[in-house]
Amino acid sequence: MAENNYREYHPVDLDNKQVDDLLVTCSDHRFQRAFEAVAQNRDLERADKIVFPAPAQNIANGVLIPAIEKLQGLHAFSTISVYDHLYCGGTDYEGASAEEEMILIHQRKQVAAINAIHEVMPEMTVITYVVGVEEIVSATDSRILSYV
Ligand SMILES: [Zn+2]
Repeated sequence: MAENNYREYHPVDLDNKQVDDLLVTCSDHRFQRAFEAVAQNRDLERADKIVFPAPAQNIANGVLIPAIEKLQGLHAFSTISVYDHLYCGGTDYEGASAEEEMILIHQRKQVAAINAIHEVMPEMTVITYVVGVEEIVSATDSRILSYV
């Protein structure tokens, strides 16, 4: 191959459609390594990804539902992981500034996101995280979460 500017290139295996998860993470560059660490702890090697500001909020309000449905139709994952983070510029904190209040607001939006996903995919497992500056500050799993 002719010289190019790629440092490294991995050939794509088009037949490998198996996927462990769909990851829906915020776009904020400051938190990408933290999100990757969370995913690695769960041994997620193959995951489709949606990167969009304030993911739980934008699943709950319906913005991301068509993209999720599209990817599910293509790759048939059975788990969706949603990664929110504190101090998210895209999230409406309703004037709150204390971390405890931000966590509660994220949790409320994540429950609404789970409900929005279950309206169109009732069997989907949804795992949600709120990632803080030093550690994960909240995690929920729709299989064990009781909500109304
Ligand atoms: Zn964000």
